[in-house]
Parts: sequence; C-alpha cells; structure tokens
Amino acid sequence: MVKKYIAYSLDEALDILASKDVYIVAGGSDMMVQKKNTAGLLPKFDKDVLYVSHIDELKKVYEDKDGIHIGAGAHLSDLENNKLVPELLRKCISEVASVNIRHFATLAGNIANASPAGDTIVIDVLLDAEVVLVSKKGIRKVKAEDFVLGVRKIDRHQDELIKELIFPVHKFDKELWHKVGSRKADSISKLSFAGVYSLLGDKVKEFRCAFGSVAIKVMRSHELEKEIEGMSLSELNAQKDELIEKYSHVIAPIDDQRSNKEYRQKVAMNILAKFLDEIIKGGK
Ligand SMILES: Cc1cc2nc3c(=O)[nH]c(=O)nc-3n(C[C@H](O)[C@H](O)[C@H](O)COP(=O)(O)OP(=O)(O)OC[C@H]3O[C@@H](n4cnc5c(N)ncnc54)[C@H](O)[C@@H]3O)c2cc1C
Repeated sequence: MVKKYIAYSLDEALDILASKDVYIVAGGSDMMVQKKNTAGLLPKFDKDVLYVSHIDELKKVYEDKDGIHIGAGAHLSDLENNKLVPELLRKCISEVASVNIRHFATLAGNIANASPAGDTIVIDVLLDAEVVLVSKKGIRKVKAEDFVLGVRKIDRHQDELIKELIFPVHKFDKELWHKVGSRKADSISKLSFAGVYSLLGDKVKEFRCAFGSVAIKVMRSHELEKEIEGMSLSELNAQKDELIEKYSHVIAPIDDQRSNKEYRQKVAMNILAKFLDEIIKGGK
C-alpha cells in the first residue's frame, strides 16, 4: 500500500528522503498527469509520495551577494509578479500553462520534470542559474545547464530535494523570449528561443542564446557565443549566414504530436536571424 507523507519543514522532508524511496510532489501539475488514473479515480502512484508544498522555507525569494534565490516551492504566479525575479524569467513564466496552473506550479518542478518543452529551463540555462540540492549529507550546487541530463533525466540523488535556484544578478542591454505554440495561452511549446546581448560602441560585448523543444534538452553553444562576442556589428553582418548555418547544427529537432522537425528547424533559425538583425542594427 502506497503511503503519503506531507512535510511541513525542510528537516522533516530530508528525514523522509534519507530513509524512503519516494516521489516528490510540489504543485503536482506534471506528476498528477504522469500518474493519472481512470477518470474519477485518484492518481495511481507505484511508490510512496512526499508532498512538499507546505514547506514555507522553500517559498523564499530574496537577493544576496550570490544572486537572486528562488525557493523551490515558490509558485509561478508569485514569481511572475515579484520584481526581484529576472524580467526575462517573469516574461517566460507569464506564458507557461494557464493562470490557474501557475498558482500551484513551481520553477523547481519545471526543471526537475526535465521535459524538452519545459519553458523556464531555457531561461535557467541562458542566465547561468544554479540548482541547489539539499540532503541530510549537505548541499550540492549544479549548473542548470548540467542538471538536465536528458528527457526526464536529472542529476539528482534519491535523498536530495531541490531547495532553490540561484540566478546571478546581471543586466543585459536587450533580452528576448519567444515561445512558438499552437495558441497564445495554455499551450506547450513547439519550440522556444531566448537571447540576450549587450553592445559596447559598435561591438558585441555579450551574446547568449538558448533553444527549447528542439533537442532532448535546452541547447546553447558557448563556443559560438564566444565567436560572436567581440565582433563589430559589420563583422556580425558579414558572418550572419555562416553563424546561422553553424547554429542549425546545434539543435536536433524531432517530429512529435506538436510539430515536425523541418518546421522547428526553420522557425528556430528564422527567430535567430531576426535576433541577429536587431543586434546588427545596433539594437534599434
Ligand atoms: C495543462 C498543462 C499545461 C502546461 N503548460 C506548460 C507550459 O506551457 N510550459 C511548461 O514549461 N510547462 C507546462 N506544464 C507543465 C507543468 O505545469 C510545469 O512543468 C510546472 O512547472 C511543474 O511544477 P510542479 O510544481 O507542478 O511540479 P510537480 O508536478 O509537483 O513535479 C514535477 C517534477 O519535479 C519534481 N520536483 C518537484 N519539486 C521538487 C523539489 N523541490 N525537489 C526535487 N524534485 C522536485 C517532481 O518529483 C517531479 O518529477 C503544463 C502542465 C499542464 C497540466
């Protein structure tokens, strides 16, 4: 018989995780779908369940010298309206699911679910966020980029709980979040793109971009970013097509129920081309 544990403190949750093999449930917006049962019946869990949504320590959002800390249990709707939260992340969150789901879904749940279509993972990776894991043995920090290993595969040990994500405080001149879905709201991404840049005179000082839903995990090329940084805007213009060609190999879209690989490849590169055009025009 499956047991249900409701933790009211972090210590309580870590004690349970240290001694039992359990599913962790935060908002449950992914878990309840994955474990759904016949209509009218409760979800069907095949092992014990630990509910973490009553732990106040996991709901904190604050800034210190390490960056902006976003508690694993903070609801997306609270983050959407919190000015401490990076603006690009708030923009992305405002397009996740529907208002009612955002009232209970969490940022940690989005990355731990490790869906290739997880929207906020694109921003976590782009902004160099760190995932903070805690267990009775201590704390472990993993870069968001390394935390997702593949579809529904994450770098988390069985006794660990995500405590928070930490975002470095950093300002860029321009930021873009672009989600392509079947409709404006409550739509899972066919593909997504996030990009940031800063200019210094007529040169690219900083450039980053990341793609979602076009590979088994969020894709970002540090190599190509380094190649672009330091280029003058005229050099960027001259090399634009070559760069797009190189980026087309960074992603590896597949066909699924939401879209096909040709569409994803073409649209992702069109969005990148538009983003590069904006930089070439000096951000105007
Ligand atoms: C109708 C609908 C529409 C949706 N639309 C979108 C969308 O547009 N974009 C999008 O990205 N997602 C979407 N989702 C997916 C989902 O809402 C998000 O992934 C959400 O952020 C998950 O958060 P949660 O707290 O509900 O996670 P849960 O379902 O509670 O958990 C998800 C996973 O995270 C793990 N987990 C949760 N908290 C922790 C923790 N503290 N430590 C360790 N592991 C943890 C769980 O064990 C589980 O594996 C949608 C879902 C539904 C049902």
